[in-house]
Amino acid sequence: MITGTTKLAAVIGSPVRHSLSPVIHNAAFAAGALDWIYTAFEVAPGRAAEALAAMRVLGISGLSVTMPHKDDVAAAVDVLDPAAAALRTANTVVLQDDGRLAGYSTDGAGFVASLREAGVEPSGMTVAVLGAGGAARSVIDALARVGVDQIVVINRSAARAEAAALLGAGRARVGDVAGIAHVDLVVNATSVGMGTDEAPFDLALLRSSQVVADLVYHPIETALLRGARRCGATAVDGLGMLVHQAVLQQQLWTGVSPDSAAMRAAAEHELVARHG
Ligand code: NAP
Repeated sequence: MITGTTKLAAVIGSPVRHSLSPVIHNAAFAAGALDWIYTAFEVAPGRAAEALAAMRVLGISGLSVTMPHKDDVAAAVDVLDPAAAALRTANTVVLQDDGRLAGYSTDGAGFVASLREAGVEPSGMTVAVLGAGGAARSVIDALARVGVDQIVVINRSAARAEAAALLGAGRARVGDVAGIAHVDLVVNATSVGMGTDEAPFDLALLRSSQVVADLVYHPIETALLRGARRCGATAVDGLGMLVHQAVLQQQLWTGVSPDSAAMRAAAEHELVARHG
């Protein structure tokens, strides 16, 4: 029952109506019987600071932030967590009791949580990260924070790869696809495979001893993950990261650990409803 004291959280973005976040967050609020609801606000490019002002005025308790607002939000909040400060992007805002807005980046930590949920501890591993966009940058930052041994950044555009490798706290360097054969953990953080059956590199490079993680979550079982399972490697899908970055957001907003299984089930159900 929605009342005058129900707390509100929402995602801001443009476009935003396709976001899975309302389905994922509302599933957890329902499972935990929390008096919270979550919706989506279409916010035009360049108007993130106004959305944050509205958040203060209306007392909106939490925001998720998606394209194209992550950089603007990081610049406009009062305080940033270490990951958001390093990346200069925020995907989460908390309206604190003192009225200040705190920005966080939960994508990278969500990725690490998805690995751990799959029984994979990344500390000490050698890693190849394919891609150098926003998702790759979050993952590189988070992997460096949990103490991986080395990160090889592989990207189509060399300049973006160099910039992303700087986030690796001295443990990251730019490499090429041949390096994939020599690491413990392979992460696809490119958009290759999203909505297609394309693999981001020649799957003959994979080894049975490796862990292969794909950030792409539609389809959930990508060509890359299928190839990884076929050669005996451990496969970690992108829905885990999507769910766990949201788990961390709810912990920040409500102080309660949400039911991640209910969140994942809701996301899977919605993806099937949309795409079959
Ligand atoms: P982005 O900033 O646009 O970066 C896209 C990356 O993919 C860049 O490195 C780009 O290389 C590379 N790329 C695109 N098309 C390519 C192609 N045909 N061949 C080789 N490389 C190609 O996007 P993003 O936000 O980082 O997202 C990347 C992927 O991660 C998307 O599929 C997104 O849905 C997914 N994602 C998943 C989660 C999750 O929770 N599971 C979270 C965030 C993102 P260049 O630099 O050379 O252009």
